[in-house]
Amino acid sequence: MTQVDKVIDPLQTPPEPIECPWCQSKYAPRLYGWHERADDGHYQHRYTVRCLNCGAQGPKKEIGPHAIAAWNRRADDADRARLVAQAEDLRAASRITDAKLTGDLEMARDRIRELEKQLAWKEGLIRQLTEVDMPALEGQLATLQAACAGVT
Ligand SMILES: [Zn+2]
Repeated sequence: MTQVDKVIDPLQTPPEPIECPWCQSKYAPRLYGWHERADDGHYQHRYTVRCLNCGAQGPKKEIGPHAIAAWNRRADDADRARLVAQAEDLRAASRITDAKLTGDLEMARDRIRELEKQLAWKEGLIRQLTEVDMPALEGQLATLQAACAGVT
């Protein structure tokens, strides 16, 4: 296939192609038409939308409006892909936040467990110091008093 000429088809009054999904230029996308010679020697129309600003090009079609529709679909696809990528970024960011919060929570729980262990140990110590065997002490006192009574 040989590209013979390149003209903007004067018969086309198509809807404007929507903005370029790659450079976001609103007015740069243009419809181009030309003739190509097919393998059987016949010429056929070819159309595509190309962005004058960044050079992005839509699919080639035999009818101008189809080329515009294909460009616009591609633009929609690019928008969708961008939104999907943004959503994926947000999901990844929230996963990081979740992981950090989970990590912080786990650290806080560890600290609480450690403090509870220390508290239990200190309570045990206090119990040992305050729980005096009173009957045994009273018994020893009675024995001493009896011994003293015997002396006097
Ligand atoms: Zn562009």
